[in-house]
Amino acid sequence: MIIVLFGAPGVGKGTQAAILAEKLHVAHLSTGDAFRAAIRNQSEIGKVAKTYVDAGDLVPDSVVASIVEEAMQDPSFARGAILDGFPRTRAQADALAEMLQRRGLSVHRVVNIDVDDATITERLLSRGRADDTAEIIANRLDVYRQETAPLLEYYSAVDSLLVTVNGVGDVQDVNQRILDTI
Ligand code: AMP
Repeated sequence: MIIVLFGAPGVGKGTQAAILAEKLHVAHLSTGDAFRAAIRNQSEIGKVAKTYVDAGDLVPDSVVASIVEEAMQDPSFARGAILDGFPRTRAQADALAEMLQRRGLSVHRVVNIDVDDATITERLLSRGRADDTAEIIANRLDVYRQETAPLLEYYSAVDSLLVTVNGVGDVQDVNQRILDTI
């Protein structure tokens, strides 16, 4: 079972993905976490990703595809996965479909977590990550609107694939709303 958690930065994808992965006994794949780890380890991918992550810009699709392909080698992936922060572009969505197809898998559900902009900014500013400054947050929201949000239309074309869930409120309540759609 492959579930994509979709939505702007700060809607709670990471928090919800961790809870879902534990409840459903599937892998949690966060491309953001993977890039931050690669940057910490100063790997080749980390060196390429750093300037993009620091600025709140998207890492190039080919680099994203290679880090996802690597993560999919993990045996735990065969049981299923919660994808958190991937795909973020149409090219990534196509790459994902292709990688899954090769393994006889497909996306089961795309859960769009919906949170208003004021709440998002408030949450990100209180989180304190290096890329959570007002200026970089504004860029990340812009990048989301320009490059990632259009994927909603792409996924809505497939019958019963895309669902939207209200992401405002108690973490466990939001989690239940997501589980209800799976
Ligand atoms: P996140 O933890 O999902 O907020 O991601 C943090 C940063 O990692 C983003 O601002 C991007 O620079 C980079 N990143 C994470 N996932 C992707 C992706 N699917 N495509 C491109 N860049 C990504």
